[in-house]
Amino acid sequence: MRTLVGSHAEVSSLMGAGVDPHLYKPSPTDVQRLLDADLVLFHGHHLEGRMGDILHSRNSSGVDPNLHRFIAISERIPRERLIHSSADTVDPHLWMDISLWIEVIRKMKEVLTSIDSDHQIDYEQSLEQLVEELTLLDAQVFDLIAEIPEALRILVTAHDAFGYFGRRYQMEVMGIQGISTESEASIDRVNRLVEILSNRKIPAIFVESTVSERNVRALIEGCASLGHRLRIGGVLFSDAPGPSGSGAERWRDMVLQNARVISEALR
Ligand SMILES: [Zn+2]
Repeated sequence: MRTLVGSHAEVSSLMGAGVDPHLYKPSPTDVQRLLDADLVLFHGHHLEGRMGDILHSRNSSGVDPNLHRFIAISERIPRERLIHSSADTVDPHLWMDISLWIEVIRKMKEVLTSIDSDHQIDYEQSLEQLVEELTLLDAQVFDLIAEIPEALRILVTAHDAFGYFGRRYQMEVMGIQGISTESEASIDRVNRLVEILSNRKIPAIFVESTVSERNVRALIEGCASLGHRLRIGGVLFSDAPGPSGSGAERWRDMVLQNARVISEALR
């Protein structure tokens, strides 16, 4: 967003490095910042579990004249391009597919030009530049995943954040938990995964920065009991960028870093 708006607006984000958006609850200061902003972009599709409640309750109360300023940006992507985890639930992790996130950025630019048409040309130029850079990044991720032998292109992580990544870059993805970090992994699911990982001799699974390692440990121990040595391939960033010094401070670094970690652990 910063790259897109340039110097025409001040951009601040409420959730910093390492914050789990599924569990995020805005502080009173955050709520005040939301109300003071000229524009509030949030992800939508129930990603921001508790903040979504606040935003939706304000929407339905119908008393705030400034509600047009609250925009669930990913809900502007056509539904047929999204992954549906059930009939009425959309998988919210679309930033894992760079080509899809480019569409989200296009929507951001539409919103910006609709409220600040004076700087339309600047926004268009920034968008063009961004699309060019991100298209290259998308190709880089493809190349990294292509280095993994086809039979080993299975990605097991602690929660189902990588569905879009798998669909775009052709990896089979299995989460240990359900779609949200709020649900517990069932023993059946862990046992089933242990079976698949052992049978297919998958060398590594991955932990995530915002999710506990407990379930991942259960898989490693389960595989060991079947004589298969499974290791942790590294830390992936799913729902939040990394802290400074992690090499994954921005969304684009985080996606590239993930692809590197996956590629190196599975090839
Ligand atoms: Zn998530």
